[in-house]
Amino acid sequence: MSPFPVGPDQIWYEVRHRPAPGTRALFLDRDGVIIRDRHYLRDPDGVELLDGIVAIMRAAQRSGVPCIVVTNQSGIGRGLFGWPEFYAVQERMLEDLARAGVAPAAVLACPHHPEAKAAYRLADPPMRKPNPGMILRAAESLGLSAAESLMIGDKGDDMAAAAAAGLSGGILVGPGEAAVAMPVHRAGDVRAALEPVETWLADGAPASRLRAAETHATG
Ligand SMILES: [Mg+2]
Repeated sequence: MSPFPVGPDQIWYEVRHRPAPGTRALFLDRDGVIIRDRHYLRDPDGVELLDGIVAIMRAAQRSGVPCIVVTNQSGIGRGLFGWPEFYAVQERMLEDLARAGVAPAAVLACPHHPEAKAAYRLADPPMRKPNPGMILRAAESLGLSAAESLMIGDKGDDMAAAAAAGLSGGILVGPGEAAVAMPVHRAGDVRAALEPVETWLADGAPASRLRAAETHATG
């Protein structure tokens, strides 16, 4: 049996603390949102928290909103590294976050890819973003209110997964493109995502406020 929280479906699903049922959640991509995207990171020494992520997670936690990490890890499917390396990277990330007083409630990671090695190869992996599988699994098993939840990502696939899962909106950091039927606020970097997150946390109608924020941001 695997020493890691990986089920028969090969998905890493780890609940670190269980949120109150019915709560909304802040879904976070890992690479390019929590830590610098170093492409197939397998060395814990490459972990570098991005500016602004601690403030965002702190604001969410202060409001009783759990942070849920959903990360594509096709490097595992491609045979570039394994769950032990993923675990080592994650432990370093969690240590750095804990030192700053924040912690995700759950982490989900998907190793599948259409071009992965046979054991991990799926033509259209339901758990891999842009598909909504990881978000739906977390929302259903933790009893979260997906329709009131928000996603921060650095790729259009993050926004597509959020939209397909029925989330209320997303914040796209960096230059990515997103064509989705969901309000998407564009932030230049993670630090710039704090303001729309705070708006969302303070407001019961996140979608409309995000639209307003987007209009404001684009002038
Ligand atoms: Mg990313």
